Amino acid sequence: MIPKIIITIDGFSSCGKSTLAKQLARKLGYAYIDSGAMYRAITLYFVRNNVDLSNVAEIKSALENISLEFIVNPKNEHSEIYLNGENVEYIIRDLVVAEKVSEVAALKDVRTFAVAAQQQMGKERGIVMDGRDIGTTVFPHAAVKIFMVADEAVRVERRFTEMFEKNPNIDLDEVKNNIALRDYIDSNRKISPLRQAPDAVLLDNTNLSQKEQLDFALKLVHDQFEPVAK
Ligand code: C5P
Repeated sequence: MIPKIIITIDGFSSCGKSTLAKQLARKLGYAYIDSGAMYRAITLYFVRNNVDLSNVAEIKSALENISLEFIVNPKNEHSEIYLNGENVEYIIRDLVVAEKVSEVAALKDVRTFAVAAQQQMGKERGIVMDGRDIGTTVFPHAAVKIFMVADEAVRVERRFTEMFEKNPNIDLDEVKNNIALRDYIDSNRKISPLRQAPDAVLLDNTNLSQKEQLDFALKLVHDQFEPVAK
């Protein structure tokens, strides 16, 4: 039995972080928390309420009206995000949100709000959380940290396939540009830019199957508790 620890998975857009995080959490009996979904839900609220991103007072007051919660869907056992009681797990994957989310996630008050909520969720431990700054800012002392990368072409193809299933009119270039733009903003913002934590293990999954990447992560977790004699 693995003790309850915090596992962080950070990396660029569409690297397959959530696929790995979900499978790892299920295998270990941990909770999975998709921190990107929190930024997406906040963005959805901002878009719906026409929040002016240059007006700090408006941003602060909007955040006071936002309540985020993850609830496990008994049908598929996936943890889904609720914004003020509404299940927004699927709407937040739309391009309308994807096009704005990195701009919203770069705002100081938004980050303070989201990071505080994430740290609160980690109090019980026994979680896998994926995102951009989980190993650097949210849980700098996490027991296991993974930083994922994959070739850009592979990432674009994966995201396109995923979005195409929901919307066959989706445009490949739009998906590609959105990934590139988000990676750029996420890596260059002032607060908590996307970085590999010094103690995070690099995982390039360009040529790995889901099983291979899961085995890699499980080995990292097990090595924490049963260090291999050198
Ligand atoms: O992980 P996902 O692609 O859903 O994240 C959407 C966006 O949310 C990212 O492009 C990034 O701008 C923001 N994000 C963040 N910090 C995190 C997780 C996501 O800034 N920990």
